[in-house]
Amino acid sequence: MYNHKKEFDWQTTLEFISNRVEFSKRQSGNKDTYERSYRIKNLLKDQPTYDTLYRRNTNKIDDNKCIRCENKEIEDWDHIWICEDNDFNLNEIIYESIHKFELQLKESNQNDNVVTLRNYNIEFINILESPSIILRGKSRIWELIRGIYNNKFNDLTKKKEEQNLIKKLWRFTYNEIKNRIWIPRCDEVKRLEEKADIKKIDLRKRKNDPPNDLDRNNIIDSNERKINKKRKTTKNIEKDRKNS
Ligand SMILES: [Zn+2]
Repeated sequence: MYNHKKEFDWQTTLEFISNRVEFSKRQSGNKDTYERSYRIKNLLKDQPTYDTLYRRNTNKIDDNKCIRCENKEIEDWDHIWICEDNDFNLNEIIYESIHKFELQLKESNQNDNVVTLRNYNIEFINILESPSIILRGKSRIWELIRGIYNNKFNDLTKKKEEQNLIKKLWRFTYNEIKNRIWIPRCDEVKRLEEKADIKKIDLRKRKNDPPNDLDRNNIIDSNERKINKKRKTTKNIEKDRKNS
């Protein structure tokens, strides 16, 4: 039987999610807390999506549908990452992450690491694109989005430094997905919600306020047009009569 316990590297996973890897010394408290919270929410699939907020009965949420794409799809945790409104798809981000990560290494003159990266980048993609044994019907990309580190990455090499470099690439990719999907998603939702709020306020104003001059003019205009139309029709009828 397959040993499911060994599928994931839980130590690396927990170190990553508890955010002890990159931020503990350098970063200020706030950023650290935000980052940890973001990672825990992905692990639990508990980001504040429309579906989550709707189920929790939060004010202002009328339904659980995605506000960004107009496909009437439920915005649950899975939908965030594959919404049609996303500017980039997951595969694109993974390929470009490897490229960007390599550039970073070059810029900091880590030429040995560039060579190592090139040795493993295809395998790295292969692992991510192969089906997850735990998350049924999904590729291992979804393990990465959850922040769960697959042991297959460790099996690529026996050398500790190389394993660490692969972990760095994995973390880099995780952050790229956040920066290119999650953050734009939040900005766009905020923009659309503000737009909807303005519309609601506008509608309320129109209901409550007496019509202003512009509205009155519009009413007069449209009345005049109706009268004109009537006149025309009467004329036409008279014409018709004459002709017949
Ligand atoms: Zn959507």
